[in-house]
Amino acid sequence: MDSQQAAALLQRLLQGEFPDARGRFGPFGGRYAPETLMPALERLEAGVRSCLGDAQFAAELGRELRDWVGRPTPLTPVRHLGRSWGAEVYLKREDLAHTGAHKINNALGQALLARRLGAARVIAETGAGQHGVATAAACARVGLPCTVYMGAVDVKRQAPNVERMHQLGARVVPVESGDRTLRAAIDEAFRDWVADPEGAYYLLGSAVGPHPYPWLVRELQSVIGREARAQFIELTGGLPDIAVACVGGGSNAIGLFHPFLADAAVKLMGVEAGGRGSGLGEHSATIGRGKPGVLHGSYSLLLQDGDGQVQETHSVSAGLDYPGVGPEHALLQAIGRVDYVSATDDEALDALRECCAAEGILPALESSHALAGARRWAREHPGRRILVGLSGRGDKDMPTLSQAIPGAATPSHH
Ligand SMILES: *Cc1c(COP(=O)(O)O)cnc(C)c1O
Repeated sequence: MDSQQAAALLQRLLQGEFPDARGRFGPFGGRYAPETLMPALERLEAGVRSCLGDAQFAAELGRELRDWVGRPTPLTPVRHLGRSWGAEVYLKREDLAHTGAHKINNALGQALLARRLGAARVIAETGAGQHGVATAAACARVGLPCTVYMGAVDVKRQAPNVERMHQLGARVVPVESGDRTLRAAIDEAFRDWVADPEGAYYLLGSAVGPHPYPWLVRELQSVIGREARAQFIELTGGLPDIAVACVGGGSNAIGLFHPFLADAAVKLMGVEAGGRGSGLGEHSATIGRGKPGVLHGSYSLLLQDGDGQVQETHSVSAGLDYPGVGPEHALLQAIGRVDYVSATDDEALDALRECCAAEGILPALESSHALAGARRWAREHPGRRILVGLSGRGDKDMPTLSQAIPGAATPSHH
């Protein structure tokens, strides 16, 4: 893409033209799904359009975000981290949202939408279980039965989250087919939806999948960036020099970035999982190392081998361990509005440890990738104001952490 094309696409993006009528973000996105699902996706698109434009829906969502999720989440100045990095640093605290991460913003919004559209039940799929827990909680609140598909391997690995889903009233279905992890769970959830496209609402967990999901999830997560932007101005009198977020499927990042896209002076940086190396299967850096292709209903970047087979991925953080990425991020990279970098497992663990010791905040391993990327940028650009999206809390990561950081009682540095 040459710079003229990029500038024209940025212009269209800022005018709110994406997704377009075909569900595309420039060359990316669209709707690649079995014929049997097209009517359901078209109904959903019409439902999204009418709800997002409806003042009553917005009021109900706003009330529930305040009274049940606990929004607005704070913007926390972190002076000790800032001193160590040579920067002014502010954290947008999605770790303090109900159920411990940003995922609840999307799960609640879609559960309310499902009820509006007259669905009889909600289906979802989950890998690490975080989206399953958020969906189970939102469905309980909204009063809809919920089925969560989860690979049998993940059911074993993520026993505490499975128990949380049960307590919240969801039915968890272990999937024994295929690779018995997230990919098989997605196939199974789609199968259920194809069999019951009228009764079931498919609640997708990130800014991925066929149109209208990337758009719907962006709209629901943009509350992060809208709040952060207003809070930043109130606290500092201006805008940050850069906003940084981790990127798995890309929902917390697009939510943080979107309200800043028109602020040309605000740099935006997405941080992917660099894992333990750049070799095949050692990382999940989809934007950094992926190629265009279709995965889960959308044309975007994905990690694939020479034959177009989807690659294995690795990350110390389960939430970033996904071979695809949302189509809007593919566009934002192509036009150069957002820089995408990666942080390794070790860099993320190190940033997590520093944040715990310096600020008394235990971030999720996913969010620690954003901290690691922000810290590197800070050291290369001294004296700037940095906004970091802290997408979730790290309590769920204790089993990984007690293995990775033996006797992790790091002494405080201040
Ligand atoms: C799921 C998750 C992510 C990654 O998902 P995105 O859609 O890329 O935001 C990041 N952080 C936390 C805490 C998560 O639970």
